[in-house]
Amino acid sequence: MSAFRGVIAIDGPSGSGKSSVARRLATDLGAACLDTGATYRTATLAVLRSGVHLGDKQTILKVVETATMEFGTVPDDRYSLLDGVNVDAEIRGDEVTATVSAVSGIPEVRQYLIRRQRDIIAAADHGIVVEGRDIGEVVAPDADLKVYLTADATERARRRSSQNGADLAATAADITRRDTADAKTTRPHDAAPGAVIVDTTHLDLDQVITALHELVDRRVAA
Ligand code: C5P
Repeated sequence: MSAFRGVIAIDGPSGSGKSSVARRLATDLGAACLDTGATYRTATLAVLRSGVHLGDKQTILKVVETATMEFGTVPDDRYSLLDGVNVDAEIRGDEVTATVSAVSGIPEVRQYLIRRQRDIIAAADHGIVVEGRDIGEVVAPDADLKVYLTADATERARRRSSQNGADLAATAADITRRDTADAKTTRPHDAAPGAVIVDTTHLDLDQVITALHELVDRRVAA
């Protein structure tokens, strides 16, 4: 096992395998694991529950800033709490998924959530693997290792639909819609400066993890 205690940024578009990879790598390294997508999803659920109009950006910001949100970062026990209640299932549902890009597209909401994400990163004293879309470039530009995970669009849709049991064509359309919407505020199709690009199209999870351990070991040795 590597003696790595730093920050690892894992960015990539929907269905690139970030979540499984981040969780496994963090477990192997004895590090924490932060899913920044869950912070945007939980904030979106708070917005939906408040009934605020999606065009009312100022009120959305207030709702997000005053929401009681908590994020667990133990890799095998990650959770998102809203008002003290576990919302892991609800934040992955259709309603939140269809709305999250509108909420994450509000710059002030991003600034607030990025502050929360940085606080979590700063508090991680055994290292942390952070996954998202803007980690290597914005949230943690000084990360010790930056990885950009990608896979071709068909493979990404296949993985997502086998995860959630949804129709392949509908999943592909949803991924394209979300990546296009997210591209207005983040760069889901571009690697951060200094990131190592790992194309997972023809790799299984074990092979990706092996590749990442090699990168980590090189950083520790450097
Ligand atoms: O990764 P996941 O699909 O759960 O992310 C949900 C949404 O959260 C994305 O579609 C995007 O709108 C937003 N997001 C973001 N920046 C991140 C992570 C997620 O804008 N770092």
